[in-house]
Amino acid sequence: MILNQAGTRRFRAYTSKHLDELLQRAGLGDEERLRVRAVATVLPFRTNAYVVEELIDWSAAPDDPIYRLVFPQADMLPETDVARLADLLKAEAPNAEIQVEANRVRARLNPHPAGQKELNVPRIGDEPVPGLQHKYPETVLFFPKQGQTCHAYCTYCFRWAQFVGDADLKFASDDIDQMVGYIRRHPEVTSVLITGGDAMIMGEPVIRRYIEPLLGLEQLESVRIGTKALAYWPQRFTTDPDADSTLELFEQVVAAGKNLAFMAHFTHPRELDSPLVESAVRRILDSGATIRTQAPLIRSINDDPAVWSGMWRRQLRMGMIPYYMFVERDTGPQDYFAVPLARAYEIFRDAYASVSGLCRTVRGPSMSATPGKVCVDGVTEIAGEQVFMLHFIQARDPSLVGRPFFAKYDPTAAWLSDLRPAFADRFPFEAAVEDSLLLV
Ligand SMILES: *Cc1c(COP(=O)(O)O)cnc(C)c1O
Repeated sequence: MILNQAGTRRFRAYTSKHLDELLQRAGLGDEERLRVRAVATVLPFRTNAYVVEELIDWSAAPDDPIYRLVFPQADMLPETDVARLADLLKAEAPNAEIQVEANRVRARLNPHPAGQKELNVPRIGDEPVPGLQHKYPETVLFFPKQGQTCHAYCTYCFRWAQFVGDADLKFASDDIDQMVGYIRRHPEVTSVLITGGDAMIMGEPVIRRYIEPLLGLEQLESVRIGTKALAYWPQRFTTDPDADSTLELFEQVVAAGKNLAFMAHFTHPRELDSPLVESAVRRILDSGATIRTQAPLIRSINDDPAVWSGMWRRQLRMGMIPYYMFVERDTGPQDYFAVPLARAYEIFRDAYASVSGLCRTVRGPSMSATPGKVCVDGVTEIAGEQVFMLHFIQARDPSLVGRPFFAKYDPTAAWLSDLRPAFADRFPFEAAVEDSLLLV
């Protein structure tokens, strides 16, 4: 029986093998469980005892937001696809046959949005540097090979394609010298973001191998760690065998004169309730690191201003700094989770208006799109026309940062590519990027 483990045991993942048993606990009938398992042949599923026992409110499942955060839903994919896969599962078809069908469905889900694979891979001379993304001058993202999984998967994950089928881990690297060499050649880089997957899935000796060589790079101001471990496995910083040595590594980064910026993904205030999270946060802050928080806005999970303001307030009390509210990306089951931009802006504004200035470090709603991070600043009327006001928080072309631009109001638009320019025949980023053939 997998369901009775205390949250404080050693980490063990629950995978699709355990799915049926867990779905029974949510009270789903035979047909419904089959349909959910059909979805799980396409999209990744993974959770663990802490999420199952400490975070999910099973009396409210399957409507519970944390349940919806980790468990696939039968209607996340087109009905015809789900029916075809469910038939194959029911007939106990060979796995290879199921995979062929699942791959076909995945290919239709825009698995690599925002030009991730082609546009952001840097080069040394003519050599591509795999596992590195360099989109904005100051920051490089590094995807360590051993960091390409998570303690649990979010149903809305925009990197879902990394975790399923014949996942193409050319995206990831274990070539530390190459990463360091690249940064040395690019003095404009002041920040390295180690991400995945989840950087904190790596044990301390492994993550140390990636971080220590960065400490001698004078140009670096910050080392960032992208992670949802505080929400999904806070034991990583309290009782796990390498908790103490991990915090010592953080101290070492701070002692080297750099900001260890712990970029924590929190989706819902419930994730902050456990006393384990409180002590994990305390220990991370005691190392001298800072914690900044971010999450996407997701329909049926956190699309409510009170959820966001509650989350930011709790984070502030605990010493964390609200950073980004993201718009769900145009990949995977986006139709299922998307909140229209007009509604996203209202949710952000209502939440933002109800918290103290100390929480207003947060920016959003922000779309991480091909030309950069686009913030929806509002909906207003100019010269009789209803428009979205937008600006770039970050841009591939830094000259665009901080300059307002406008799009025609559309109550159903849910992504940058749904928008049309207002008062102009093209968006500023379209003009700025035409030479490099970038299209949104
Ligand atoms: C958000 C992001 C960054 C970091 O941007 P900041 O505004 O410095 O937080 C870097 N690279 C990519 C691809 C990003 O999406």
